[in-house]
Amino acid sequence: MKLLIALAAGALLAHAQPVAVTHVTVIDVEAGRSRPDMTVVVAGGRISAVRQAARVTVPRGSQIVDGRGKFLIPGLWDMHVHMFSALPPGTQDPAARVFFAPNFVARGISGVRSMFDDLGAIRELRAAVAAGTLAGPEVVASGPILDGAPAYWPGSIACANPEQGRAAVRRLKDGGVDFIKVYSLLSRETYFAIADEAQKAGLPFAGHVPNGVTAVEASDAGQRSIEHLLGVFASCSSREAEFARDGAKFGDSMRAAAESYDPRKAAALFAKFAANGTWQTPTLVALRTVAYAGDAEFEKDERIRQVPASIRQIWRGLLADMAKPDAAARRRQFERELTLVGAMHKAGVKILAGTDTPNPYVFPGSGLHDELELLVKAGLTPMDALRSATIRPAEYLGAANGMGSIAADKAADMVLLEGDPLADIANTRRIAAVVLKGKVYAKSDLAQMLLGARKALGGGE
Ligand SMILES: [Zn+2]
Repeated sequence: MKLLIALAAGALLAHAQPVAVTHVTVIDVEAGRSRPDMTVVVAGGRISAVRQAARVTVPRGSQIVDGRGKFLIPGLWDMHVHMFSALPPGTQDPAARVFFAPNFVARGISGVRSMFDDLGAIRELRAAVAAGTLAGPEVVASGPILDGAPAYWPGSIACANPEQGRAAVRRLKDGGVDFIKVYSLLSRETYFAIADEAQKAGLPFAGHVPNGVTAVEASDAGQRSIEHLLGVFASCSSREAEFARDGAKFGDSMRAAAESYDPRKAAALFAKFAANGTWQTPTLVALRTVAYAGDAEFEKDERIRQVPASIRQIWRGLLADMAKPDAAARRRQFERELTLVGAMHKAGVKILAGTDTPNPYVFPGSGLHDELELLVKAGLTPMDALRSATIRPAEYLGAANGMGSIAADKAADMVLLEGDPLADIANTRRIAAVVLKGKVYAKSDLAQMLLGARKALGGGE
């Protein structure tokens, strides 16, 4: 609901000049097909018409974008991001505006689900976007995470008991969050109290499956999304009883759970997820870093030069930790994770594209394109991978009437591509232009944005 209000407010300030993207191939993520030689007309920040080019009268004075030979997809959503929680206090607010926002927009990301960030900084970002002083994504946000006491991350709300958990939910509700994020160290009692209080407050809750809770219990408690496949292998294991509540969410015991994968248990679990509406945000790109930490190939990635030194320094510490267990075992585990995502998708479990940027080598913006490729590697079709970043996030957020596909009356957030993403999902990286709230950013504008972001925070060289 809050999101729809934000979209409506954005539309008032949207770019006034009508825009027509002419003779373009529209990727229709709802019908699941491409529609060649279409013209898409945009006015007042919304799409006003999508029709066969020959049947459209382009409004007088429109900005024309020649779409011949190009492909138009809906604006992308990254459903698991952090914009500042990794940074020292005091640098969080500028980081969102000068580094993260331009990286998102320049890569076609028009919306993000913030899974733990400072609420004050989120408000600053939203205000700058609403005032038209900053090109930035829509933000759906949890604010701080709710964790056990002591909490794993600084900045969390540590909940030592059910009463503290309930009070935290009420306080965040008053603070205007869109949902509650639950974390690993919550006790069972506190977790279930938070689940209950969130439902009373009318807030969805999502995040980690705590160490002491099973994925089955989380699904039954109404958790809206599970991140990073946490707890899923334990509940698919023939040795489930051993792993159920021992925190088999990470490392060796998670790998042991994956080795005892039982397809019948898996089928029952996936049916439960589908029936309960428990979505999965696998964040494969972040899991890949865990699998390949210590691999010299990562350091050769061109994009590293765009990352501020302050973030790269945090990466070094995290990577040293990740690289400890046996590399071959970690890589085998990643192959199992890909297979698991493919199997869940096939079984009708809804998948969201999310990255967990700025984890090591998970680049803001371009990391989502890595995630789309990994989802295809996991067995999704390119169309289904695109859906996981467009219409699926819209459905998940209850906003599919106003966004998520290229259709009349929806938000004019679109990405013009130089290649067919259905032929090769890697073509989502070949961005010719971005339309954000009806305003066109040409390739040169996007390059400028990235250059500015690179210089920001004293980052890059
Ligand atoms: Zn995260």
